[in-house]
Amino acid sequence: MEPHVSLSQLETLTEYDPNSMSVEQARQFIRQFLTPVAEQESIKLHHALQRTLAQEILSPANVPPHDNSAMDGYAVRCADLGDGNSRTLRSVGCAYAGHPFAGPVAPGECVRIMTGALIPENCDSVVMQEQVMIEDNIVTFTRDVRPGQNIRRAGEDIQQGATVLPHGQVVRPAEMGLLASLGFGEITVYRRLRVALFSTGDELQQPGLPLAAGQIYDSNRYSLLGLLQKLGVDILDQGSIPDNPESLKTALLNAASNADVIITSGGVSVGEADYIKQLLAEIGEVVFWKIAMKPGRPLAYGKIGSCHFFGLPGNPVAVMVTFLQFVRDALHILMGQHPQPALLLQATCTSPIRKLPGRTEYQRGILIADEQGKLTVHTTGEQGSGILSSMSKANCFIVLPADQGNVEAGSSVRVQILHTTS
Ligand code: AMP
Ligand code: MG
Repeated sequence: MEPHVSLSQLETLTEYDPNSMSVEQARQFIRQFLTPVAEQESIKLHHALQRTLAQEILSPANVPPHDNSAMDGYAVRCADLGDGNSRTLRSVGCAYAGHPFAGPVAPGECVRIMTGALIPENCDSVVMQEQVMIEDNIVTFTRDVRPGQNIRRAGEDIQQGATVLPHGQVVRPAEMGLLASLGFGEITVYRRLRVALFSTGDELQQPGLPLAAGQIYDSNRYSLLGLLQKLGVDILDQGSIPDNPESLKTALLNAASNADVIITSGGVSVGEADYIKQLLAEIGEVVFWKIAMKPGRPLAYGKIGSCHFFGLPGNPVAVMVTFLQFVRDALHILMGQHPQPALLLQATCTSPIRKLPGRTEYQRGILIADEQGKLTVHTTGEQGSGILSSMSKANCFIVLPADQGNVEAGSSVRVQILHTTS
């Protein structure tokens, strides 16, 4: 559903102060403009990684489909081995995974069975091979046998008809396997989100080329490319655009007609924002905020037609922090997903941190677990918003809330993990 009020109207209608927006206020402001993509497509499971389910997945069958053995051993009729019975049974055949034992098992008989093999008819327990002695097909059982032991029951993982995955679920490696285990060769997903990306700045040079006086390499586009590639969106890389209105206008219009989202870096700080402000006022609408956060103060959000615009700051750490705190969740929503709030862990901070109350800070930290699993964190050192090596060294953000002052070594802080494996 498209909002009925325009961005700029909305901002003046609310009590938001564009010169000091809290991180949460800015998130919520952006959220009301995000309508997920509607188009769906059917794709092969092979290509499903990172895609978003446009269907709820119900289990078409029990998983596992049949009772089967959890061990290599012998399938028995438990009653045959109870008190007062002989402790020996005659082995009458074998059951392998994929090759069931044919026919029922009679009293006094047992069947050699391998892990994953179907439990033969009439059998109700499996005894581990380490707990038997065998001579000429006569198997002697040395321990008591419980009914049902070492059997994986049909439907014990998933029952037929159960909801296995909700609509909007992102497909990760576990979901690839889970969908395969249910027999889905194809699934219905939302189409990929198209994200256009460019850097702005007269000083930017492309890596691989020599730097002239006053130039720096365009690193932001590469950090953003990495962040976007991890999300599995289609990327329209428009390179770096000099600070002149004509080039910026062409780049913005081209991006808006080919993408769902435009992400730029640089050119949104006070003094530099004027170009983009004027341009967007002409071809769309935009709001500029100073977010009460560090690093990453300036942020612009706007729309050109139905295309969303995120103007991120130019400083290399600020660009990553603002992407992770604002843009990533917004993209997840546009992709049809339901992002959860970041998981914050509690850790003891071993570095003292100087901080003034007033802004949420995202210090780059190194989180360590000791042998007992107790978590400590220390900063990566110099925290300037241009120190990109701090993002490379870090495995977490130390998230210091706005009202927090200095942090003494030994006090407890919240951390947000940066890298996850699956
Ligand atoms: P700006 O917000 O455009 O004033 O940029 C703030 C700082 O970030 C300046 O020092 C810029 O040179 C630097 N910067 C801007 N864009 C990039 C980029 N794409 N890669 C690396 N540094 C950048
Ligand atoms: Mg600039």
